[in-house]
Amino acid sequence: MKSLDEIARELQGYDPQALSAQGVLDFLERLVPPMAETETVSLFDAPARVLAQDLISPLSVPPHDNAAMDGYAFNGAPLGANAPLTLEVVGTALAGQGWRGTVGPGQCVKIMTGAIMPAGLDTVVPQEFVTRVEAQPHPRVTIPAGLLQPGDNRRHKGEDLMQGQPALRAGERLTPAACGLIASLGLPQVQVRQRLKVAYFSTGDEILSLGEAPREGAVYDSNRHTVRALLMRLGCEVIDLGVVRDDPVLLRHAFTEAAARADAVITSGGVSVGEADFTKAMMKELGDVAFWKIAMRPGRPMAVGRIPCGERAAILFGLPGNPVAVMVTFLAFVRPALLRMMGARPEPQVLLRAHSDEAIRKKPGRTEYQRGIVTRHSDGTLRVCTTGSQGSGVLRSMVEGNGLIVLAHDQGNVAPGDEVSVMMFDGAI
Ligand code: AMP
Ligand code: MG
Repeated sequence: MKSLDEIARELQGYDPQALSAQGVLDFLERLVPPMAETETVSLFDAPARVLAQDLISPLSVPPHDNAAMDGYAFNGAPLGANAPLTLEVVGTALAGQGWRGTVGPGQCVKIMTGAIMPAGLDTVVPQEFVTRVEAQPHPRVTIPAGLLQPGDNRRHKGEDLMQGQPALRAGERLTPAACGLIASLGLPQVQVRQRLKVAYFSTGDEILSLGEAPREGAVYDSNRHTVRALLMRLGCEVIDLGVVRDDPVLLRHAFTEAAARADAVITSGGVSVGEADFTKAMMKELGDVAFWKIAMRPGRPMAVGRIPCGERAAILFGLPGNPVAVMVTFLAFVRPALLRMMGARPEPQVLLRAHSDEAIRKKPGRTEYQRGIVTRHSDGTLRVCTTGSQGSGVLRSMVEGNGLIVLAHDQGNVAPGDEVSVMMFDGAI
């Protein structure tokens, strides 16, 4: 396990007093270890977990060639003649039941969607395309010329998943689609990473818990609830330690308990420069912790490190106190770091591009995350406007916005109509 100083030496141009957003990500990638423990869970408990094994298909889905439409299954070879084709209907194949008869030249089988294609037949004509005449011993159907190619409306065995092929890779986050896919393989259980345990507490003497009476100069603890909800979205087990007063005994106890019980510890508040409380001092005393000024807005101060507990250590993320800064630093840095700890495959960050409806002032030399509202203009282009006041305490802006306009480190002012990048909230918050 490398010390923070060793990690810092590996990084070119590391300056804790002016770290770029990319510098933070590079540091965290070296600091944060993937957790190895796994467990087997029922598929019912699998949503949002991280798959710990490669899943090889034990069977093919679908298991047989089958009909994609209700209609008539026949051998498509005569279609090449490009003339109407009249066939005798010698039986019916229903979904869930094989049809075992033999089908000769000039014959077909009525077939339902999902039914196994009878041997030797490769094409299905949808029933609405044929004219059918009742006759003895068999009814007859006529398929118009030029409508079909051989092989149409037949699903191939294994076209979704082929037996013996990888279906899902370790590190896959189990989305609704992935859970359905696992079920289609007939697997009732899966091996997943153990849920990441994350402890959280708010710091600051001015912070009120819900239920406490308002008092002058005090604010209710919103960070506790934003962070808790963000962690729940990620599928973490949240250890909620509430608000901790600015008292060395209480802080020591909170940090020690958090590190003992959790893989990662998140705090908010008390990490700014010149902060007159004990939070920073206690972080320094109990762990190997770096205090950064990040070239970003909002969210300049942040503490990161390890708090040892016996043989192991919990990763510490000391976030700033301002409610928007908490969310932005969480989304930009903590979320990718936690996903890495959870053993999830890194997600490419998908930013969309939209035209700014307004001029935005931006200084090169820091990354800015402005709350934006993306809409689709009547001409089909994506437009974005800011939510107005970008104060780092204006949590309403995170509710009104549907994404963060990410103004990159080197970027300058934005003129109306310029394209900007937006990190959409959907799925993350
Ligand atoms: P700090 O980073 O501790 O200087 O806090 C910066 C600002 O964020 C102050 O105005 C705090 O009152 C506010 N703040 C800190 N913690 C919380 C919290 N848990 N909930 C709401 N506001 C907070
Ligand atoms: Mg404070």
